[in-house]
Amino acid sequence: MDILKIKNLSVSFATDGPPLRAVRGVDLSLAEGEVLALVGESGSGKSVTSKAVLGILPPSATVESGEVIYGGRNLLSLSKTEMTSIRGREISMVPQDPFLSLDPIAHVGSQIAESVCVEGRRGLEARRYKKDRAIELMREVGIPDAERRYGEYPFRFSGGMRQRIAIAAALAPSPKILICDEPTTALDVTIEAQILDLLDRLKRERGLSMIFITHDLGVVARIADRVAVMYAGRIVELGGVEEVFYDPRHPYTWALMSSMPAAGEKTLSAIPGSVPDMRYPPCGDAFAPRNEWAMRIDTVLAPPFFDITPTHSVASWLYHEDAPKVELPPHLKARIKVRGGKSDA
Ligand code: ADP
Ligand code: MG
Repeated sequence: MDILKIKNLSVSFATDGPPLRAVRGVDLSLAEGEVLALVGESGSGKSVTSKAVLGILPPSATVESGEVIYGGRNLLSLSKTEMTSIRGREISMVPQDPFLSLDPIAHVGSQIAESVCVEGRRGLEARRYKKDRAIELMREVGIPDAERRYGEYPFRFSGGMRQRIAIAAALAPSPKILICDEPTTALDVTIEAQILDLLDRLKRERGLSMIFITHDLGVVARIADRVAVMYAGRIVELGGVEEVFYDPRHPYTWALMSSMPAAGEKTLSAIPGSVPDMRYPPCGDAFAPRNEWAMRIDTVLAPPFFDITPTHSVASWLYHEDAPKVELPPHLKARIKVRGGKSDA
């Protein structure tokens, strides 16, 4: 069952010149209990998509079209107060940078406690309840000696521990959906692995659904059930994590894979060329100028989705029946073979 559905979402920003088309007709669904990874280079529209879902777009943004369906309602048509009660309570966010997201002059425990729902309790009873819940949450996310550390300031904690605290704060209102926007980008690889393990455990134990945003396919492999690859404001490939990893189809997905670092490294090599200026989005397939397999039609007409399997689809003219047959680049074939993939058969 889908818990969240994004339909034909388009968002633009006012600029001095033409509007910047950050998100252009995104359709996505999130099933209950799944982790959907949204992956793409910086500037592809991942954060703007998630901000639209959370109702936290800046004033310069306009939702040009679309719906975000949750609990039978379109979140984009809710009033500010209605949205505030859903954001946090039902849909909560883990920020990218735990150094910026926590208030440096408030005790970490109280920052978690403030989001705990008191459910009818009042006064001292409510305060006690919030504190107890916050300590439980600190334990749940793996902060040792939680009771004592409740009253400490953020600077006393390492980056990984701060991210655990930010996760505990996001969990405090018992949300159903967690949106994690690059939650490990600011952390080193070892700590990153620990945070991914934590999120994976929370998903299993709490039955949370997650949208997990990252520019790093390596992270996707560790946490996601499904993957949506995003480029220039559009989804270009969508499939189960195995489908996208063992049988990637879009040349942009190939480029992302080629830029993945070897095991244990954190730096990605860049994809040749650059993302388009979205004030002037290219007509046709936005990736065409960087795509060595681009055809003439790519510069004219945006490709529709072609289904590879019932759960795997790709927006590229290469999968039109009249297109020349293109094979996965050999270096990627070799990598997939190493990982034990089946697509090189
Ligand atoms: P990602 O998260 O994939 O790196 P974003 O969703 O943040 O990318 O951005 C998508 C596009 O929208 C980019 O071109 C970015 O420059 C633009 N953008 C994002 N936020 C703003 C803003 N507040 N004002 C103007 N443009 C913005
Ligand atoms: Mg972003």
